[in-house]
Amino acid sequence: MTYFAFSCVIALSYLLFRFRKKQRGAENELGRLRENIVRDERNQMRAQGPDLQDLLDALPYPFFSINSEGVLNRVNSQAAKIFDNRDILNRNIQHVFLDKKLSSLLSKSLSKFKAYRKILRFPPDSAFSSYGLDKDTHWEIDICPLSLQGDNREFQLTMRDITASVHSDQVRKDFVANASHELRTPLSVISGYLEHLTEEEGLDHKETAQKMLETMDRHVVRINRIVDDMLLISKLESDDSVPLNIAPFCIATCVKDVIERLELVIKRQGSTIEMKVPEIRFMGDQFYWTQILFNLVENALKQNPDIPLKIHINTEIDEDDNLKIQISDNGIGIPANDLPFIFKRFYRVEKHHSQSQIKGTGLGLSIVKRAVEAHGGKITAISTPRIETIFTIIVPQANKDIDDD
Ligand code: ATP
Ligand code: MG
Repeated sequence: MTYFAFSCVIALSYLLFRFRKKQRGAENELGRLRENIVRDERNQMRAQGPDLQDLLDALPYPFFSINSEGVLNRVNSQAAKIFDNRDILNRNIQHVFLDKKLSSLLSKSLSKFKAYRKILRFPPDSAFSSYGLDKDTHWEIDICPLSLQGDNREFQLTMRDITASVHSDQVRKDFVANASHELRTPLSVISGYLEHLTEEEGLDHKETAQKMLETMDRHVVRINRIVDDMLLISKLESDDSVPLNIAPFCIATCVKDVIERLELVIKRQGSTIEMKVPEIRFMGDQFYWTQILFNLVENALKQNPDIPLKIHINTEIDEDDNLKIQISDNGIGIPANDLPFIFKRFYRVEKHHSQSQIKGTGLGLSIVKRAVEAHGGKITAISTPRIETIFTIIVPQANKDIDDD
């Protein structure tokens, strides 16, 4: 009996051992099957490509999908960013967009089931503003209706920020308008005088004819200067990177050159120029630096023909190892209201210029600014009228001549 019981225990243990072994085998097999299924699913997904939301999020512009009731049912990450990632899904566009022009365009598309493309302008305080408080944002809006299965309809709204191109278009238009305005004045003087001189007996009064010819000559010089300056500014503005002829040169040489060119005016006006210009060697385009210094010194002289003007020209390497150039004068100065605009093209301080005087076109300082910036530098101006007007240029030391010791 005891022997029988012992045999039974042995047999049962053996059976249990076999069963466990089989169970482990089955479990391993199941694991392998599961892994295969997951691998197959992954391969299938890879073959199908990324999911729709991933694709929409990869778009570089905002995308909204709207159902026929005007409810937002899908947006991409660029669109969510406009609303600071607030939850805007399943809400009506009228309550989300809060912009009359955009909402009415959408309503029109929804009711007529028609595609629309329009450029809309959004003020700085709008949700669709991308430029903070100082600039309107221009979006090109595209609304496209889609017919889905059954009677389902959906609308896709995409928006492209075209503020930069609208802005550069405006700059171009302003430039053409200003340039033609500036050229028209001297041209009309010349054509008026020519008409007079070519009339019968027009040349009889020699003194008057001589005066007219002199005035015409001055106006021709002006036209030439305007055309030269316009070519220069359009070259400087044509590209982000102005083609510079970079070579080592000495700023002192440019200053000498400028003083020589303006010597007659300096003497005639009884102005004095004080200079602290050490022999600093510098990497840059000498043509532009001569132009920069000429415009700044010429401005000081031109605006102050009737006072004993003192101009200071200082150059140094500052504590941050930048080249610092300062040109200052004690003349009539620039009113605080005009200071922010003097580097804009064609801007001239009105108080300084009477109609009869020819003093320039207002391109000089915009050329100066562009040329300094093309060298990686910055220019600023401060002015206390009749006490001191200072133009300061700072250029990084990357432009310092590497042979300089
Ligand atoms: P352009 O240089 O094209 O011949 P412009 O001298 O009038 O003409 P900018 O050099 O651009 O034009 O200068 C713009 C305006 O800034 C000048 O018209 C003048 O009113 C003012 N301005 C510039 N420099 C001085 C200065 N040193 N003192 C007083 N006003 C100045
Ligand atoms: Mg000038």
